[in-house]
Amino acid sequence: MAHLLPRTLAGHARRSALAATTAQRTFATSRPAGVDFNLTEEQLSFQDLARKFTAEEITPKAAHHDRTGEYPTEILQKAWKVGLMNTHIPQAYGGLGLGILDGVVITEELAYGCSGIQTAIEANGLAQAPVILAGNDAQKKKYLGRMTEEPLMAAYCVTEPGAGSDVAGLQTRAEKHGDKWIINGQKMWITNGGKANWFFLLARTDDKANTGSAFTGFIIDADSPGITVGRKEINMGQRASDTRGITFENVEVPAENVLGAPGKGFKVAMGAFDTTRPPVAAGAVGLARRAMEEATKYALERKTMGQPIIEHQAISFMLADMAIGIEAARMMVWRSAWMGDQGQRNTYYASIAKALASEVANKTAADAVQVFGGNGFNTEYPVEKLMRDAKIFQIYEGTSQIQRLIIGRHVASQFS
Ligand SMILES: Cc1cc2nc3c(=O)[nH]c(=O)nc-3n(C[C@H](O)[C@H](O)[C@H](O)COP(=O)(O)OP(=O)(O)OC[C@H]3O[C@@H](n4cnc5c(N)ncnc54)[C@H](O)[C@@H]3O)c2cc1C
Repeated sequence: MAHLLPRTLAGHARRSALAATTAQRTFATSRPAGVDFNLTEEQLSFQDLARKFTAEEITPKAAHHDRTGEYPTEILQKAWKVGLMNTHIPQAYGGLGLGILDGVVITEELAYGCSGIQTAIEANGLAQAPVILAGNDAQKKKYLGRMTEEPLMAAYCVTEPGAGSDVAGLQTRAEKHGDKWIINGQKMWITNGGKANWFFLLARTDDKANTGSAFTGFIIDADSPGITVGRKEINMGQRASDTRGITFENVEVPAENVLGAPGKGFKVAMGAFDTTRPPVAAGAVGLARRAMEEATKYALERKTMGQPIIEHQAISFMLADMAIGIEAARMMVWRSAWMGDQGQRNTYYASIAKALASEVANKTAADAVQVFGGNGFNTEYPVEKLMRDAKIFQIYEGTSQIQRLIIGRHVASQFS
């Protein structure tokens, strides 16, 4: 798909990089830089492509998909065509093989237009991550390869009605019968649940073993007999995204679809988050950036007491706080992504990025509604959607409390 990147965008990226280098020279010293915040030419090119795609294809249709809950099939197909979906599939299996940092730069742009549509795209990445991490060559060829051949969706099935944060409490079972596994159980809140071609699923395979050995990861074809997909859930926000419960009743899965070793699924399912929490956090940054920009434009135009409301310090300080949050959150997103790309353990930083960015998104969107006053509360203006959409960032892919558990444990481990 790399060849589909428009040449003119690559040219634009080169010019941007040149401008950045020239600006830098003003302050250049002879000391080597320890940290480099510049994006590469290729990353600038992806950012530009994603920004243009968002402006042309996502932003104009976001309100429609929010209002109707209609799945954005056409937009997803176009995103697939230009290379903005499945960006992490390795080149050996037909993908672009992009890094985490490349991905977060794209994700921020897509979420700027609609984080519901971005979530549908991101859920593919979440389902693919365990396969990229632990799949064998044949599994990668079959399940990742087909996603580069046509615009298919996939889903990550871990949460259950009785177990979300408490992943170790999940009850879906898989039993070995000859060369097959039989799966029984119920999954809940599955993004892309009704649209997926295949599922990554975590099931309990040993009642007596400890968490590290009790669960196994499976790849399951969505058309397998015994799978019942529930109704599309009507959520507070991100309504373009498809969220469903899924029931598995005596679903047969061939032994070749076990991901990694039997009993080792918990680590695979949780390990995926090191690569997927930075992009989820990037989505929150994109939403927050949109809220800040909408609020700023409105504050420049709306007048009270004879002056644009941006002249009231109470309003401009709100905008300043938005900028502070967005800049800081983006840095954490980039750091956690960069560490993952360097092969460094990034769990702690990915949790900080996710917790911080999701809180920044919620505060920024709520303050944007405040800046809009009564208009902010109305569906004719874009910010009430942003406020509804923002909430889920504090819940899915590990709640803010679970991120703090991870961060708190890491902090304690430094001194014990
Ligand atoms: C729109 C949407 C899309 C989703 N997509 C997917 C998906 O694609 N795949 C998937 O597998 N799941 C998905 N989820 C599920 C999501 O990850 C869970 O909802 C989330 O992990 C929280 O689990 P829970 O809903 O069971 O809440 P609970 O775990 O019951 O938590 C309830 C509250 O208690 C807090 N809490 C729980 N345990 C602790 C603790 N030990 N310490 C402190 N506080 C705690 C939580 O932070 C939360 O505030 C999705 C959910 C939604 C709503």
